[in-house]
Amino acid sequence: MKKQEVCKLIKKREIADGIFDFTIESADIAAAAQCGQFLHIACGGYTFLRRPISICDASNGEVRFIFEVKGEGTKLLAKKEIGDEIDVVGPLGHGFEIKGNVRKPIVIGGGIGVFPLYKLTKQLTNATVFLGFRNKSRVVMEDEFDAVSSMTIVGTDDGSYGYNGYIASAMEGYLNLNECDMIYSCGPMPMLRAVKKIAEERGIPCQISLEQRMGCGIGACLACACETKKDGTERYAKVCANGPVFYSEEVTLND
Ligand SMILES: Cc1cc2nc3c(=O)[nH]c(=O)nc-3n(C[C@H](O)[C@H](O)[C@H](O)COP(=O)(O)OP(=O)(O)OC[C@H]3O[C@@H](n4cnc5c(N)ncnc54)[C@H](O)[C@@H]3O)c2cc1C
Repeated sequence: MKKQEVCKLIKKREIADGIFDFTIESADIAAAAQCGQFLHIACGGYTFLRRPISICDASNGEVRFIFEVKGEGTKLLAKKEIGDEIDVVGPLGHGFEIKGNVRKPIVIGGGIGVFPLYKLTKQLTNATVFLGFRNKSRVVMEDEFDAVSSMTIVGTDDGSYGYNGYIASAMEGYLNLNECDMIYSCGPMPMLRAVKKIAEERGIPCQISLEQRMGCGIGACLACACETKKDGTERYAKVCANGPVFYSEEVTLND
């Protein structure tokens, strides 16, 4: 179920420089939201197209999303204050698949890709979580993930906090010593490529959420088409409607 709704902003916090944690009120979206789905948000001003932002958490009539200011749309969104209204369409997209027989899941996220993984991690309850950031000043949500996972490992590309290096390498080191039967991931393309390779070399099923640029958000405009391979046949899928979550072997991760 998806719908357009004008929702009141009830919580707002800047959790790192230029990264805003918003909670809006919506009983319908909170009840319908699945892990990995997103909202399509009208940011106002002259930004005609809505901007996709993942649902970070949803319960009890409240929907939380966290975003980094990148361009005009997110800059306008960040100016909203508590009590203001935000026009959203959602929940949209095909989210993460949670399978009952998965016993040792890994969740791995990088940068703004960590946000759609929080509700998932809460639901899994026993995930080993890897979170990667550029440097110490960009580290967010560590305590929150820690509280809902078996273990959370944080790393930074420049070594200023936690594991020193790319977070996919930390995951690879962990996999040399530990079992895993499902990887869930979201983050920048180089990280997703590394995660896909590591998972496929080891035969571990891997779900990847793609944060492609998109237009309409509902499968009509093809702006977010990505190359996919299903049953050996190459074709294009729409990230907004067929994704954003795909199994790694279904997608070709081009630049
Ligand atoms: C399914 C999905 C879920 C997303 N979830 C989140 C989220 O939870 N939190 C969050 O901060 N961001 C998320 N994004 C990215 C977010 O949609 C973009 O950062 C936002 O649309 C940029 O809009 P803007 O008007 O501020 O910037 P624009 O003026 O449109 O662009 C500014 C800069 O951002 C880059 N950019 C634009 N779109 C994207 C994108 N999709 N990915 C990476 N870079 C982009 C542009 O190349 C440009 O350099 C998500 C994207 C998708 C597709």
